[in-house]
Amino acid sequence: MQDLQHLKRQIPLLQYLQQHHHWTARSDTDRQEWVGLCPLHCETRPSFYVNSRKNLFYCHGCGWGGDLIRFVELAEHLSFRQSLDFLHQQIRPTAGEDILQQTAAWYRRQLQVHPEATRYLAQRGLRDEALIEELGIGYAAGGNLRQHLTAHGYRFDTLRHEGLIDARGRDTLWQRVTFSCRQQGRIVNFYGRSIGAAFPHRLLPRPKGDLFAWKSVRHSAAVILVEGLFDLAALWQAGFRHTTCAIGTHLTPEQWSQLADWPAREVYVAFDQDENQAGQQAAHRLAARLHRAGRRAYVLQLPDGHDPNSYFAAGASTADFTACLERARRS
Ligand SMILES: [Zn+2]
Repeated sequence: MQDLQHLKRQIPLLQYLQQHHHWTARSDTDRQEWVGLCPLHCETRPSFYVNSRKNLFYCHGCGWGGDLIRFVELAEHLSFRQSLDFLHQQIRPTAGEDILQQTAAWYRRQLQVHPEATRYLAQRGLRDEALIEELGIGYAAGGNLRQHLTAHGYRFDTLRHEGLIDARGRDTLWQRVTFSCRQQGRIVNFYGRSIGAAFPHRLLPRPKGDLFAWKSVRHSAAVILVEGLFDLAALWQAGFRHTTCAIGTHLTPEQWSQLADWPAREVYVAFDQDENQAGQQAAHRLAARLHRAGRRAYVLQLPDGHDPNSYFAAGASTADFTACLERARRS
């Protein structure tokens, strides 16, 4: 009990909402009652109230209410116990997390100083610098991560243990454009796309995390699910910000529950239109599974040989892709 009180004092509900859910609210004159849009259900008029003195919330729209732990249970779909663990992790970041944060920052800086990486992004149609920054895209140049991290006091063993470098001390992701994979906001992995020919896709031997950018996508009434992060980047660049990605066609159980967590949501599956039909088959299997769960799902048919990224790189417009979404909806 004491532990619970302590935890709640350390992470005030209002601050938690602002930091983790980008919650914006207005308050009454004595700044105790706050009201804003409910992070737990979709609404257009604010009905979510927070009392910052009592550290409690109540939503007149969906009827949920309670304290910080109750909020985490509902928002993150966790049990009481898991919610406590989740919150404890927020106040005590582990060494593993710090190192991944540092790696992400290093890779982002490397992107600035290695024109071959920027050239590769441009080649794939990614030119919007603000978007590249927002997506946290970086570059693992090759052999310098080890030196950078050991200079910051990390041991070689730790780097190996985290999967960041290989036995020879080279970056596991070397010469790859990198994306950070997150779980509940924290970096848990990196996806690397080779800018050369060798082993194009690579994830570190760690969990692949949530559906990409799920926090910003989950409240959309319609969601586009793609196979690859370059597909996602191309779609975001074209204005389809309600696009998420499971990194591959296979969803982890956690990613599946995220995708299916809201009955009213429409899911557009836009996997690769490859020659062996693997992407299309996986898309149809996933759509069927969503239908069985009572969800609305549509499979996109792109021109032969294309994925969303190559489709845009070949000159497709926002209107072209919108037409694909419409066709999928009608078929
Ligand atoms: Zn609500």
